[in-house]
Amino acid sequence: MTFILSVDQGTSSTRAVVIDCNTGVIVAEHNVVLPNIFPKEGFVEILPQQILDTTYECIDAVVTTANSKGIPICDIAGLGITNQRETTVVWDATTGKPLYNAIVWLDNRTNETVKKLVAATPTKTASHFQSVVGLPISPYFSAVKLRWLLDNVPEVAGEGVLFGTVDTWLIWNLTRNLDKGDKGVHVTDVTNASRTMLMNLETLDWDDSMCKFFGVSKKMLPKICSSAEIYGHISHGSMAGKPIAGCLGDQQAALFGQHCFLRGEAKCTYGTGCFMLTNTGTDIVQSKHGLLTTVAYKIGSEPAVYALEGAVAIGGEVVRWLRDNLGIISSSSEVEQLSGTVDSSHDLYFVPAFSGLYAPYWDPTARGLIIGITAYSNSAHIARAALEAVCFQVCEILQSMDADSGIKLQCLRSDGGMTKNQQFLRMQADVLGIPVECRAESSEATAMGAGMAAAKALGVWNVEKLPGDVLTYNPDLGDEERNGKLARWRDAVQRSRGWVN
Ligand code: ADP
Repeated sequence: MTFILSVDQGTSSTRAVVIDCNTGVIVAEHNVVLPNIFPKEGFVEILPQQILDTTYECIDAVVTTANSKGIPICDIAGLGITNQRETTVVWDATTGKPLYNAIVWLDNRTNETVKKLVAATPTKTASHFQSVVGLPISPYFSAVKLRWLLDNVPEVAGEGVLFGTVDTWLIWNLTRNLDKGDKGVHVTDVTNASRTMLMNLETLDWDDSMCKFFGVSKKMLPKICSSAEIYGHISHGSMAGKPIAGCLGDQQAALFGQHCFLRGEAKCTYGTGCFMLTNTGTDIVQSKHGLLTTVAYKIGSEPAVYALEGAVAIGGEVVRWLRDNLGIISSSSEVEQLSGTVDSSHDLYFVPAFSGLYAPYWDPTARGLIIGITAYSNSAHIARAALEAVCFQVCEILQSMDADSGIKLQCLRSDGGMTKNQQFLRMQADVLGIPVECRAESSEATAMGAGMAAAKALGVWNVEKLPGDVLTYNPDLGDEERNGKLARWRDAVQRSRGWVN
């Protein structure tokens, strides 16, 4: 019997699972909540040490659970890692001390930095480098966050400083042996590197002209590896001596974990944000409709597989906002019951553009709005409109995907925390007009993807078909009604734009 341990380091939690490499079944799991820090409007940070501590805690706890189920440590072949992408960490190469809190992907303190960078491009457009790196200049991506750190934190511009996304920070620390005074292995994988704006999509290496444009020294950048190979060995804790053999950004890991191996296959992950990815095979497809081009995965020495991606900044986050900021529910799952008390949002629309809009608008000037409130409206209508907002945003991305690929998607595979909400999945099918599929264990697709990559690298993966039943949610809304709602949504979105400079 062979098992693989997979760590999923997310924005709101860290989790670890142990997967049976012969059946694909998850046999042990452990979750720890990860606090986010909001020091100022637009700032979102996480303590880098807490990223490490929660990871170590999850690894130790899941190994203990596996042991208690009769799985000895010698049966766990190694570790795969998947992580929140773009979140940026800088640290001292000698002491290992972080030089600043991790700047989270959602953070938009860099709006001014973005304006300056766009003005410095020859065409003065955010999309100037899109053909090289697949991404527009936006606060979202790591190089922009790193530029802000170089400008605002003097130590970061010094010698002996290392940059990393969360995967790099984890691997460096997991492989670092303090007793021997070793430094960690400083690596990232192609999927994480493709979110920095510094990697050339064709060469899969750091691009000299991009590094020059952002003023980033290559000395601080990790080595770019494939998504499935042995990067190093864990130096301490309950997994000491085991290889780290898989690494993918969370969205790419979910695509891989959902077995979207064929060109044209797509999935949407509904977590803090929502991310739809469509596999485009070995072709680098440039979007004409506001989507990103990214690396989907690269298994060892096989050619890289690419994807088109549509990102929605605020997905499940709007449910958190209803809970923590508005206080109309006391747990995320309660939203289902509250929104179920009304049969429609009664023409109330909620655009949760808390930090601007991502795809297909890429508009940092938009801010959230709720429109259509009457004396009749209550918290249930707002809750329902919040869930519908997620559905509409994903629908706009799906339409961009269809337009870019010229093929109409027939069915959407879904995963992530929000897919526990069946009413929401029914709404999503209605808004999209195509069936939405959800696998019983699909909330763990991300961890599954990283575990699969590691197990493949170690030659121990023997699963052809994922376990668990697939539930299909079919649309139950006429085209006219659906199109009418979408038009109202687009109208609301237009009204949210240009609210800040
Ligand atoms: P991440 O990986 O980004 O940390 P998860 O996949 O764990 O996110 O999903 C967590 C998100 O799902 C949270 O934003 C939470 O508000 C939302 N969520 C959890 N349960 C439900 C539910 N029953 N209905 C709607 N949203 C939910």
